[in-house]
Amino acid sequence: MSFLVAASLHLDGTLIATADSRLPDATGAGFADKLYRLDCGHSLANDESVWTPGENVGRSIEFSSTCWLIQRGSEWLLWDTGVPDSALNDPKGWSTLPELIVYHLDKTLTDQLAAIALKTSDITYVALSHTHGDHIGNVRLFPNATVLMQRAEYAWISSPDGPNDNVNQLKALARKLLDTPRHLKLLEGDTDVFGDGSVTLVSTPGHTPGSQSLLIHLKISGFIILSGDVVHLEESFEKNTVPSLNTDKAASIASMDKIRQMIATYKAKLFINHDKAQSETLKLLPAFYD
Ligand SMILES: [Zn+2]
Repeated sequence: MSFLVAASLHLDGTLIATADSRLPDATGAGFADKLYRLDCGHSLANDESVWTPGENVGRSIEFSSTCWLIQRGSEWLLWDTGVPDSALNDPKGWSTLPELIVYHLDKTLTDQLAAIALKTSDITYVALSHTHGDHIGNVRLFPNATVLMQRAEYAWISSPDGPNDNVNQLKALARKLLDTPRHLKLLEGDTDVFGDGSVTLVSTPGHTPGSQSLLIHLKISGFIILSGDVVHLEESFEKNTVPSLNTDKAASIASMDKIRQMIATYKAKLFINHDKAQSETLKLLPAFYD
């Protein structure tokens, strides 16, 4: 129980959501101004079947790592922070699970923000899809930002080790990279960040216990869903495939169903963080969606 006490001590300010669903009204939602894609690394894994159990055994696969930056008025929200900037051009690469996957970084997050005249201190919110290292590698570059994550995720990385060594390793790395954010808001399910339906954090557990996705509403592009790791590949989404590393298979399937319903309700596009083929077709900063 001690980790729960720690979590509440780290809370800064009030919760911005309750357990009630806060998904926006498809016709009445407000608008964010711009959505930028940042290149937050790429990786090579030696066994695709970890993500597609029963298929592609021993086949290598390349993934993209994507961060997204949202402007709404004078405020900026960064969605995930990618592979640590310290991994830049490291020929050995960087890893979360060295026997499975190695990440490489060609440009830093800091330099990409600078390309549109932003400093790390300009970022208001850092929202985390989940606590795997390739999503939280640079959280500590943003000490002024309010970190938004699900309470269930924070409780999970703070919980005692279980029987799966890979999961224990990922949790230990998460604690190290996350450290104790100065401004941390722990969320209880779906959360309307700005109170107008323009940006909603959507609870999609299963990959990890407190995984979330993001729904954004833009004037020209309409609704877009940023996957987090609710799904890794377009094909897995079509086939309802659940990676073997996910902490809860049934929850993973329910979360994919939730995303499918949202795609129908909002006529939304789904941008999949790690799908390299899809990512390469999307606009990259300084270009943006509006
Ligand atoms: Zn992940």
